[in-house]
Amino acid sequence: MRFKTEGLILTEQTIRENDKLVTVLTRSEGIIRCFVRNAKLLKGRSCNAVQTLSYSRLSVYSGRDRYIIDDAEPIELFFDLRLDLEKLALAQYFCEAAMHLLPENTETDEFLSLILNSLYLLSKGQKPDLQIKAVFEMRFMSLAGYMPDLVCCHKCRCYEADTMYFLYNDAGIICQDCFQGGHDCIALSRGALTAMRNAVYADPKKIFSFSLSQDSLAQFADCAENYFLLHSDKHLNTLEFYKKVRI
Ligand SMILES: [Zn+2]
Repeated sequence: MRFKTEGLILTEQTIRENDKLVTVLTRSEGIIRCFVRNAKLLKGRSCNAVQTLSYSRLSVYSGRDRYIIDDAEPIELFFDLRLDLEKLALAQYFCEAAMHLLPENTETDEFLSLILNSLYLLSKGQKPDLQIKAVFEMRFMSLAGYMPDLVCCHKCRCYEADTMYFLYNDAGIICQDCFQGGHDCIALSRGALTAMRNAVYADPKKIFSFSLSQDSLAQFADCAENYFLLHSDKHLNTLEFYKKVRI
């Protein structure tokens, strides 16, 4: 059986002399592993279409126990990401998160859109990389079933305060008046909390559409990464690598 789909190449691995095995996050079939025969002999656009980080239109033959890509055309190559080590490392982190942390039997359409939007913004450089990373992490975990409750203080129900505390294990917030200390939390400024709410609740097209101060961005980024790691049971080497190359 043959089908057509669109997909982001998450990883590639050369096998034998000319063949490749690629992992693809597809729009219609979830994550699939596919053979690409004679990948090294492909020329031009088809060759680029089956590289890591390429988003491509794929024609896939589904055999008894394997998928084989027999035609590929690039839609977006994210070429700029390949020229900047820090951005490339972050892009690979997004791909590794998708590879290992997507819930099974889940619709992957929203995850794919999230990653594509993150890669696109990363390549354009119009938002701080750290902001893109933090939005990605919070939205990813929300889609994966770990949506925090950021509506109001869990005790007094107030909506805002100069400082609100995000409680990691409760996945909720508490205001400065109700806060009674503890280590399992992080203080969030008004700006950082607004960023958190935006990443979790906004329309998919608007999740990145905000600006915040350096201090608030640092809080937002810390909170998002800690929350992401709390719910990811796998060590992601790409995150370590990103931290090493980050300037
Ligand atoms: Zn309160």
